Amino acid sequence: MSDRPLAIAVASGKGGTGKTCVAASLLVTVPGLIGADADVEEPNLSILLGAEPYESSLVETPLPIIDQDRCDRCGECVKACRFGALNMFGDSFPAPNDLCHGCGVCSMVCPKNAITETGKPIGEIRLCRGNGLNIFEGRLHVGMPNPVPVIHATVEAAMAEKRNLVIDCPPGTSCPMVAAVRRADMVVLVTEPTPFGAADLDLALQVIRNLNKPAMIVINRADLGGADIDSLGRRYSVPVAARLPFSRSIAESYARGNPPASMDPQWKEAMLSIWESTERMSGN
Ligand code: SF4
Ligand code: SF4
Repeated sequence: MSDRPLAIAVASGKGGTGKTCVAASLLVTVPGLIGADADVEEPNLSILLGAEPYESSLVETPLPIIDQDRCDRCGECVKACRFGALNMFGDSFPAPNDLCHGCGVCSMVCPKNAITETGKPIGEIRLCRGNGLNIFEGRLHVGMPNPVPVIHATVEAAMAEKRNLVIDCPPGTSCPMVAAVRRADMVVLVTEPTPFGAADLDLALQVIRNLNKPAMIVINRADLGGADIDSLGRRYSVPVAARLPFSRSIAESYARGNPPASMDPQWKEAMLSIWESTERMSGN
């Protein structure tokens, strides 16, 4: 048995399945958890939990600066940039645009050592507190194209607390979702039994299998729609951990800003069961 802190990532292939409901419900049910809102393009976990920003720090990525006294406009940096992030028109000097991912390749290939780097703010991490909970909330600045560094920084800041953690992941199955789940001990995939829910869950299960992460499925609004989520889970050897039926009173309460587990015993029981399964599978 080990007592190392555990991290559960709550993800969904599809938006609107109730992912944040599940993350918030875990936080209000299992004592001692902290949260990380890695849905950095639309963070709302702290709103649902009534937590207010307490302090914040910027997230920066490296941005190349061209020394025009050294640059001979050879164009090697422009050719090397796989993101199309350096503009060079006619005999102008290269100039970075918003597509820059801060990978540093341009400065490595420059034969004149004409490229240095400065920090470019692309987002922030807010520590939000309220109702006895601490939430690390990542926020991507408006117009920034790459949320991944903000997601990494948010999860790392929360993990540095060395406490059991719930990560609310971005929806979908692309780089932001992968960035949010990669440090987790367990991935909870929230879905709904509709053809769209099943199709997107299939994609999410493929990603999780490729990452070799233990996972479980939560079927939300389990009595609406007829898609066979159980068979899909069996195909990937991922169990269905909870089936939560639609409830108008829960939906109304959620709309007023209350996590379902704060008012519904079935939700509360499901959250405890998910946490206990995670502890068991992690050897804690
Ligand atoms: S590789 Fe260096 S010298 Fe060549 S265009 Fe880019 S900055 Fe200028
Ligand atoms: S740091 Fe990377 S992404 Fe940015 S301009 Fe240089 S090569 Fe392109």
